[in-house]
Amino acid sequence: MQAFLACFESGCRAKFALSEVLYNCPRCGGLIEVDYEWNEANTAPWKELWRERRMDNAPLEQSGVWRYRELLPFDDAQSQVVTLREGNTPILEAPRAAKYAGLDRILFKHQGFNPTGSFKDNGMTCGVSQANRLGKQVVACVSTGNTSASMSAYASAAGLKPVIFLPHGNISFGKLAQALEYGALTLQIEANFDQILALVRLITDRAGVYLLNSINPFRIEGQKTMAIEMADQLDWDVPDWVVMPGGNLGNASAFGKGFSELHRLGLIDRVPRIAVIQAQGSAPFYHYVQSVERGRFSAVGNPETLATAIRIGDPVSWPKALSVLEHTDGLVELVSEQEIADAKAVIGQTGIGCEPASAATLAGIRKLRSTGLMGKGDRVVAVLTGNVLKDPDYIYRYHTGTLKAPNGEEIVSHFGNRAQIVENDPAKIIELLRTL
Ligand SMILES: *Cc1c(COP(=O)(O)O)cnc(C)c1O
Ligand SMILES: [Zn+2]
Repeated sequence: MQAFLACFESGCRAKFALSEVLYNCPRCGGLIEVDYEWNEANTAPWKELWRERRMDNAPLEQSGVWRYRELLPFDDAQSQVVTLREGNTPILEAPRAAKYAGLDRILFKHQGFNPTGSFKDNGMTCGVSQANRLGKQVVACVSTGNTSASMSAYASAAGLKPVIFLPHGNISFGKLAQALEYGALTLQIEANFDQILALVRLITDRAGVYLLNSINPFRIEGQKTMAIEMADQLDWDVPDWVVMPGGNLGNASAFGKGFSELHRLGLIDRVPRIAVIQAQGSAPFYHYVQSVERGRFSAVGNPETLATAIRIGDPVSWPKALSVLEHTDGLVELVSEQEIADAKAVIGQTGIGCEPASAATLAGIRKLRSTGLMGKGDRVVAVLTGNVLKDPDYIYRYHTGTLKAPNGEEIVSHFGNRAQIVENDPAKIIELLRTL
């Protein structure tokens, strides 16, 4: 199996060795992807093999990423893999959420069940393993959120040094706490996210530091196993729609790549439609796709949303995500802060729960149902990207009616659930419990 790096731009498609450290094409500046010569692949035994591995206690077989390593042939020996048993996330049915969205049925693939609580772990196991293969000692990323939590854990598990660059004074506390606990060197810089990314890209090359933002093509390889695991869990009968939130659009790119490789190799008979949901104040991809002319991609200068994981004004992977929409007959939808907040509370009420960005999926599905773009009986899987505990502050504010959108507008707690103060009086408590 021949594996290589390739420029994503269809007019270029320059090829490079896997051992090169590339984040953009040196010839045209395009995005880089990992690609393979699949021609000689004998896929016949794979499905059975992947099932059998679930019964095996070896670390690689216990990983919901590396179990599917026939589709990750960039690493033929797996001797330098670092795994925290990522993936293996459940598909959960939620009738109450289906009713809220106006669907007969909805399934949630919950990536918040990962070791550090988000889908970033699916990609990070590959990214950090590649850092190992390249002999890098130090890995870095720019992030205030789940990427830094995940990278810190995997780098430390591998014995590498994680370095995190943050915009000063713009810290998401729960996620930063994870990075500190997992031993990252954390640097706060007086600049915004885009400026810091430019700075870090300049120094990573010179300092020999390996960059693990989602521009890293090996992270996308790991994340594509979410599509494979989903198809496996559905006995290879793919849904009509797979719905996910969109920030930097690495996730949408990865799902698209996963499904299209499965299709090309004859492991599924069609690809699902990919629907990407963005928050209103942070929706450059939505506006680009909607625009008639589709000229230059214009970034949103000051993206705003309480769903901080998708607060991205200049999404790195938009060309890949655009191609995914074209190949899967996909679409992009937009939702408000109010819609995200209510959808999140509904997901909570089903006993599942998720972080704010993840709830954009249910809000988006509800909107796609109301506009008729999605049918009542369509088979829909929504990807819940992060764990409910990532952002407890948001939850507390919503349920106490004190959550405000970034523009200052109040968010109405339609599904609010406040703690009640009761006297230390058995009779009164019994009376209260009888009303349930
Ligand atoms: C990173 C992240 C996203 C956004 O994914 P992209 O690949 O940047 O589009 C959404 N939700 C959560 C919880 C995340 O951590
Ligand atoms: Zn190129």
